Formats: sequence, C-alpha cells, structure tokens
Amino acid sequence: MVKNMLTELKNHTLLAGLEKSKPTLPLHSLEATEGRRSVVEIGELIIGGPELIVMAGPCSVESETQLLEIAGKVKEAGATVLRGGALKPRTSPWSFQGLGEEGLRLMRAIADDHGLKVVTEATGMNNVGLVARYADMIQIGSRNSQSYELIAAAAITGKPMLLKRGWDSTIEEWLNAAEYALALGNPNVILCERGIRTPVGTILDVNAIIEAKHRTHLPIIADPSHAGQKSELVHALTLSAIAAGADGVIIEVHEHPDQALSDGKQAISGETLARVCGDIASMAQISGRTFASGRRSD
Ligand code: PEP
Ligand code: MN
Repeated sequence: MVKNMLTELKNHTLLAGLEKSKPTLPLHSLEATEGRRSVVEIGELIIGGPELIVMAGPCSVESETQLLEIAGKVKEAGATVLRGGALKPRTSPWSFQGLGEEGLRLMRAIADDHGLKVVTEATGMNNVGLVARYADMIQIGSRNSQSYELIAAAAITGKPMLLKRGWDSTIEEWLNAAEYALALGNPNVILCERGIRTPVGTILDVNAIIEAKHRTHLPIIADPSHAGQKSELVHALTLSAIAAGADGVIIEVHEHPDQALSDGKQAISGETLARVCGDIASMAQISGRTFASGRRSD
C-alpha cells in the first residue's frame, strides 16, 4: 500500500510538473503564503497557535511505577503531552530496546489517567500501525528522518506526526521529508529541531528553527534534551528555542536519572521542568503568546 502511495506520489502531477521546471523538489505545499500558519489539533490541544506547549516524559518507558511517577510530575509542571519511547532505536543492539506494546499500553493508560496526550516513536514499517493504535501523535526519530516509506506509512494513518530532523540533515532535507507527509494528504506535521552534530558536539540549531518558521506554515518545536545531551543545558536551550519562535518543546524527564535505561544524562527532574514551564509562560507574555498549561489548578 505504501509502495503504491509512493509510486503515486512520484507520478503526482503537481510534483512531476514542478520537477521539470525546477532542479530540486520544491517545498510547495509547505510554503507559508501570506503569513498563513497551520495548526495541529489533538482534541482540545492546539499546537502552532498562540499557545506554547510542552511535551515531556521519559526517554524510554521503563515500568509502570516509573511512568506513573513521571507523568504526575509532568502534569503538575504544566505539560500537555506525555512523551515516552516504547520502541527504542538504540545505537547499540545491547542497549535497552524498549518495552514494546506493553510500553505503548502504559503510555496510553497513564496519559489518559492524567489528562495528557501521547507522543511516541514508530521505528519501522512493522510497528507504525501498532503505534497509531495507542498514540495521539507518531514520532519519527532522527535516525529515520529520511525513511520515506516509514514517513508515508505514518502519514496515511491520518495521525499527527512529530517529525524530527536528522542530526546530520540539512534544512532542505528535513523540510522535504515533511513534504512527503503533506503530499500524501496528511497536513498534521509538526517539525522538531533536535540538535545537529558538529565537530564540537551536538548543538541546538536555532537558525533552523527561525528558517523553518519562515519557509513553512507548519508548527515547529525544539528538543533541547537531545540537542544539549546534558541536563544542565536543557533550561537555557528551551528558552533560546522559544525566543527563536518555536511553538513549544519536547523535554526528557526522569526522577532517578542515574538509573535511567536510556538518556539519563540529559533528563531533568519534574521540579526543574516546573521551573522551565514557569519561564516559558513568562516568555510567552513578552511575545504576545500564552502558555497552554495542563496543570490541574490552572
Ligand atoms: C528520543 O526522542 O528519545 C529519540 C531517540 O530522539 P532522536 O530520534 O531525536 O534521537
Ligand atoms: Mn532520548
């Protein structure tokens, strides 16, 4: 089915016509015309509108106890979306690979109990349908940022997609990856700048946030956790991303980072997340926006 869709996409009259007149695939459907911006709606949650949003949670779902503890803190801090990987694309085959469907089930149940939405990653064609059954938003990770069949398969589920930029992708490559989803009829794509590799280490590409915002109408969020790779950088990187115009952030949280099964060094506590959210709310006021706090008391 996806192969057929891709073949159809190759024969798409708009793209075929434009291909003849331009040397590269145009970012046609992505272009922000007359300042028009699109929003992605998940129930009452609107991403890309006047409200800044926070997605937060563990890198990996490790156990029910771990996720319950973190989800409570994430909700209390004001996040509206629970993040957490159940299918983990790990650099080493010996590293924790995620809880699989049990992790997805925990994400759905615990997010529902806390009034949070779910974003979680699909890592391959064999699990995209499974992820779509549990998630509100399908994450396409950095390693798969140019896996066009996976992007197409995720797009045709109709679920919103969080599309990470590859850590070595150009802005052009990243936006063209989003174009695949749009060209297949799914407009609900959120771009995510997650840091790029440079000779001096991984850095948050603030330029890319600004440029993507100018060149497309899509919502864009930043991932200061993977960009910074160190918990002490997350707060300031978040504020830099918001200053650059990001519509929100996705942040890794762990209450016992030294015991985390993945990415412990970049995880912040729920308490720190609450301070980060407070500063996002203050910055929102300066730029005429608001913070979409998910806190029960707000
Ligand atoms: C993640 O979100 O945990 C993750 C693996 O991110 P990335 O694909 O950006 O490395
Ligand atoms: Mn991670």
